[in-house]
Amino acid sequence: MTGASSPALVDRFGRVHTDLRLSLTDRCNLRCTYCMPAEGLTWLPRSEILTDDEVLRLVRIAVRRLGISKIRLTGGEPLLRRGLPELVTRIHQVDPRIGLSLTTNGIALARMASALHTAGLRRVNVSLDTLRRERYTAITRRDRLTDVVAGLRAAQAAGLNPVKINAVPVRGVNDDEIVDLTEFAIENGYRMRFIESMPLDAQQEWDRDSMISAEEILDRLGERFTLAPIERRGNAPAEEWRIVGTPSTVGVIASVTRAFCGSCDRVRLTADGQVRNCLFATEESDLRALLRGGAHDDAVEHAWRISVARKGPGHTINSATFRRPQRPMSAIGG
Ligand code: SAM
Ligand code: SF4
Repeated sequence: MTGASSPALVDRFGRVHTDLRLSLTDRCNLRCTYCMPAEGLTWLPRSEILTDDEVLRLVRIAVRRLGISKIRLTGGEPLLRRGLPELVTRIHQVDPRIGLSLTTNGIALARMASALHTAGLRRVNVSLDTLRRERYTAITRRDRLTDVVAGLRAAQAAGLNPVKINAVPVRGVNDDEIVDLTEFAIENGYRMRFIESMPLDAQQEWDRDSMISAEEILDRLGERFTLAPIERRGNAPAEEWRIVGTPSTVGVIASVTRAFCGSCDRVRLTADGQVRNCLFATEESDLRALLRGGAHDDAVEHAWRISVARKGPGHTINSATFRRPQRPMSAIGG
């Protein structure tokens, strides 16, 4: 997929970047407690959000000049982006071999899954932290559990494969549902993944004690299931296990306690056109200004390469010098 002559998007540690996390909006229709405050956030003005044509131009540069081969659409809530199926169609047309996936809260999936699959979307991750309606309403501050369950079903029926469920277990909130969520995934043919909570909430209330570590997640799973490790995950953030006696797998994304920065192949583009070389980066590179200033593709490519070249060795959550990024997760694109 890389243009024959284009060098890889590589940093000074030799990590090659092939995976683009593309945020399409910072807005959201939920207010998950580990992500943002009840009142929401000050959304970016519409004029600052990349237009579809600008997104397309950056995708072309990423795929044809920088060797990006996988694109995950995210946000905020990406299904809120107006005209999303048309945009997905156009991204798919840049190169149909792009592995195109989406991370969503699932609320609008029942309505959109089929159109998105037709447009070229292949895989979907749906965030679901609990199977209990009252608890779902408490965590997300919206009573939408039935919509998410319908969205999961619609995604599967539309042919999106695999359909993964992402859950962030938080102590005293939903950590007693690790087994129940996994059983739900097994019964319905979804793949379960648990994510360690990270200090990326807008209200800055994250604390290590409320995080459920990978070790604890695996202990809880081990009480009910026999897990067999799946050989190395390549660059994928999740460590995966086969659930013996079932066709299913379960994954754990241990960004805090088992950081995988050494094999990171991801680069991020925010909805307002800023390249971030890491989820935890404190600096960004303004590609939107270049686009709107009339820059040639060469200049945009160059700025993108410089940003990645400057990537640090890894996040420093576990050190005393850790500084949170200014943007919360929802404005970066998770
Ligand atoms: N709105 C979509 C969703 O919820 O799937 C996409 C954006 S959301 C920021 C992407 C993922 O980040 C979700 O799976 C969500 O659970 C996760 N997330 C949000 N805040 C987090 C935090 N503080 N720590 C760990 N994961 C978080
Ligand atoms: Fe919205 Fe996703 Fe954040 Fe929940 S985790 S508030 S769904 S952006």
